[in-house]
Amino acid sequence: MSTIVDNAAATGDRMHRLAAELFPLCRSLTGEGVRQTLRIVGREIPLAAREVPSGTAVFDWTVPNEWNIRDAWIKNARGEKVVDFRRHNLHVVGYSAPVRAKMSLAELKPQLFSLPNQPDLIPYRTSYYKETWGFCLAHRELESLADGEYEVCIDSTLAPGSLTLGECFLPGETKDEFLFSCHVCHPSLANDNLSGIALAVELARHLAARPKRRLSYRFLFIPGTIGSITWLALNEDKVSNIKHGLVLSCVGDPGAVTYKKSRRGDALIDRAMQHVLKTGGDAHRVVDFLPYGYDERQYCSPGFNLPVGCFMRSQNGTFPEYHTSADSLEFIRPEFLADSFAKVAAVVDALEGNARFRNLNPKCEPRLGSRGLYGGTGGTRTGAFDELALLWVLNLSDGGHDLLSIAERAAMPFEKVHAAAVALEQAGLLQRLEA
Ligand code: ZN
Repeated sequence: MSTIVDNAAATGDRMHRLAAELFPLCRSLTGEGVRQTLRIVGREIPLAAREVPSGTAVFDWTVPNEWNIRDAWIKNARGEKVVDFRRHNLHVVGYSAPVRAKMSLAELKPQLFSLPNQPDLIPYRTSYYKETWGFCLAHRELESLADGEYEVCIDSTLAPGSLTLGECFLPGETKDEFLFSCHVCHPSLANDNLSGIALAVELARHLAARPKRRLSYRFLFIPGTIGSITWLALNEDKVSNIKHGLVLSCVGDPGAVTYKKSRRGDALIDRAMQHVLKTGGDAHRVVDFLPYGYDERQYCSPGFNLPVGCFMRSQNGTFPEYHTSADSLEFIRPEFLADSFAKVAAVVDALEGNARFRNLNPKCEPRLGSRGLYGGTGGTRTGAFDELALLWVLNLSDGGHDLLSIAERAAMPFEKVHAAAVALEQAGLLQRLEA
């Protein structure tokens, strides 16, 4: 096996292990599950957590009360637990108010949620903004409940506290930022949530170790919707630095990559991502922006209109495991996590290396042989750059084309075009222009 394959296997395993460690925690918009998650993330990468008090006004929204849960169950007339939060945290509707009561099955049923079409799976339900309580269970289990009296208990608290935002900032040579955002508000769901966290952590680890960063990087680990709204409201002064961005979610399943473009549609991030996917040769889908999905809805709201796309494998809502107990640690696999990492890392490399040059010998082609460039210096037939890439870079380096647009026109992987530009610059044939 080659070193790259070995590294990919180690990367995928590390990402999956992190997802497995985070899986049992009961995350929600707020509360201890989020804090425990951020403590584990903070062990892997430099992370600052910020607490925003309940009641804080953020644009048209308000930071909600904090929710914490210790236990929940339903007991039948014989005192047996027929639903138990400790067996699976999806059994409780997220943000359920505390309850302790006895009731008949008919009274209980309106508080029970199941999936008749997927009778063995527990659904994921929340009620963030309407105070209620409920339980989720497999439809087969719901149907097996006998008539009689039931005792229900949800030992939760819903009270003023705070919302926790996690942030990792890696400064670069320029103020221009690449934003990565993932949500940390889902309980035991692996692809929709934990895979995105694992990818963000792996990218941050990789970038923190990089000796030189041209761009600055900001990683947000935040609850969906209210988290990005809160971050944007508290950081409006920083928003103009964001030049590229990706929301990461559902990146560990076996499906092909789906890239959802930013609202702008033609931002550098949109072009770089499409180029990496196209030249990579794997099946993929590119979809236009729509104001539905993850936190790109907030980043791409008209008052911000940031160049933020969304990187996924199977798109949210389109796979049968979505928002059910089947979105488990078996559904995400190390090889797909590693593949998602490799593709996003290639986009990072393209945006780090993108630049414009001027050909200093523009009248007819310069002699490559006399400069040691002909036939692929770097020495071998499999050298880092090839002759056609050299000719494309020389021809299009008129000051107007950046390396990404040259790579697009040449239909060549960005790294080949970049390697050619570096060699030509070293040979004194190109002058690097200011961005
Ligand atoms: Zn979700």
